[in-house]
Amino acid sequence: MKNWLFAIVIGIFFLMLTACGKDPSTSEGKDKIYVTTTIAQIEDIVKNVGTDYVQTESLMGPGVDPHLYKASQGDIKKLQKADIIFYNGLHLEGKMGEVLEKMSEQRPTVAVTRDIPEEKLITDPQNPNAHDPHVWFDIELWKYAVDTVANELSSLDPKHEKEFKQNAEEYKQQLDKLYEESRKKIEEIDENSRVLVTAHDAFAYFGRSFGFEVEGLQGLSTDSEYGLKDVQSLIDLLVERNIKAVFIESSISEKSINAVVEGAKERGHEVEIGGELFSDAMGEEGTKEGTYIGMFEHNMETIVSALK
Ligand SMILES: [Zn+2]
Repeated sequence: MKNWLFAIVIGIFFLMLTACGKDPSTSEGKDKIYVTTTIAQIEDIVKNVGTDYVQTESLMGPGVDPHLYKASQGDIKKLQKADIIFYNGLHLEGKMGEVLEKMSEQRPTVAVTRDIPEEKLITDPQNPNAHDPHVWFDIELWKYAVDTVANELSSLDPKHEKEFKQNAEEYKQQLDKLYEESRKKIEEIDENSRVLVTAHDAFAYFGRSFGFEVEGLQGLSTDSEYGLKDVQSLIDLLVERNIKAVFIESSISEKSINAVVEGAKERGHEVEIGGELFSDAMGEEGTKEGTYIGMFEHNMETIVSALK
């Protein structure tokens, strides 16, 4: 065979290899558990607990709003490929209920909030029968999700149970450290100024764990409309409490929060946009903010430097 022809054949062979490496149905990925998650916060747990024994994919990338998200045809394929599906539950994925239910007929489909004791959940202020789904902002509660993932992976792959449990313990220690460091950082903010104003109510758990008053323009789901009254009462709060900054969220349009900033200005109170917080979505994969711990630290730094 001529050298150049040989080179092309080898080249094509390697191209095929790399293309196949991403497909768990080939022999290379077969020993791994293929996991599909809804939000990337959950995928991050699975990566930390499952390490090399799992192959993961999350449906919702940076900037995506899970409350309004509908599964595409491509998503259905990713869900069908999965050995196990992890989702948040508590109606976070409000438009995916039917799809997830259908998927659960063929494979374990697990809400990672399943094992959190009910009394630790925050009740939806608009609906006493529902709970606030944004539990990842209470580190203590998110550790329950870590254990749920470790238990489920262990049932699917009992050979590696020891590793999964060990990884879960180590990851929870990192989360404890994150909590301690965050708590210390918050002491830089004057107690009176610990008020977090954002576009929607994603931070109630955060507020409870760190002693913040939290106000969102929209309710727990971005599915609800906000009215002039909501804007007005937020402006009142900003003026009365002399709050210096409000925050935008990576998965929600800035428009709503800008109305509040403008309104406060008309009343002679300068409020700045304190920065962008990650609420329901994380940052780009491969960046610091693309991990749970990284996005938590980003939020903490943004909040502290704007309000201190
Ligand atoms: Zn939300």
